[in-house]
Amino acid sequence: MDRVTHRTTQQIISHLQDWVKSLSQQSTELRTSTDAADFEQRFRDEGLQMLGSIFQKLLQNALNHQNENRTCPKCGRRRRHKGSRQRGLLSSLGAIRLSGVYWYCSDCGGQHAADTLVPESSSRPMQQLLCLLGTSMASFAKASFASKKLLGVRVSDPAIRRLCYQHGRKVPISPTPMEPGEDLIGSCDGTMVNTRQSGWRELKAYQFRYDSNKHGRAYLEPSKHFVPRLRQAAIPGSTRDFHSNLP
Ligand SMILES: [Zn+2]
Repeated sequence: MDRVTHRTTQQIISHLQDWVKSLSQQSTELRTSTDAADFEQRFRDEGLQMLGSIFQKLLQNALNHQNENRTCPKCGRRRRHKGSRQRGLLSSLGAIRLSGVYWYCSDCGGQHAADTLVPESSSRPMQQLLCLLGTSMASFAKASFASKKLLGVRVSDPAIRRLCYQHGRKVPISPTPMEPGEDLIGSCDGTMVNTRQSGWRELKAYQFRYDSNKHGRAYLEPSKHFVPRLRQAAIPGSTRDFHSNLP
């Protein structure tokens, strides 16, 4: 282990040790169920902060070990070193900040050294958790509320909405092509939903099944737009391009 990594490890162990000692001391003073519940909540909140802090140190250690490369990874041209800058990252262990070289390519723009490890403003595990909240809760506003309670970071509902749409468009509609002669079973239905923008509207949905595969979607739109989608979706393999053009 090199000297920098050794120092980082020692800092983490010392930090952890102090925290565990403090928790052990607090545990001797628990008397009631309220004490225990408060202790559990504190343990959770502080534990998540602790994991975030360790994760930040380890990712920073990874950046400190990167070789400085003056070649732009996008176009292959030479890029300019613009000094060290901080970059934020929303990880599943909390919001962290990383310090690294900021590069500038005249063709491709600014690039932070951390972009090679985490190219987007939120990490992939965090995006998965936010999409899970966004798609399983009744509204993006509730998902935003839950993000603070469950993940320790309040993520705005427009941000969760954008993420869900972004990943939703990437999901293949019919991953496996149908075999010739195979039966395709389809169904569609509608249900009325009360929308904030324009009152009661019909949410139309379809589903198609063949062999062990199935695909389906739901849309809040008039029949003249929905019916062409329905026809298109009945041709497995052709739906991908059709849906990728949607706003
Ligand atoms: Zn470039």
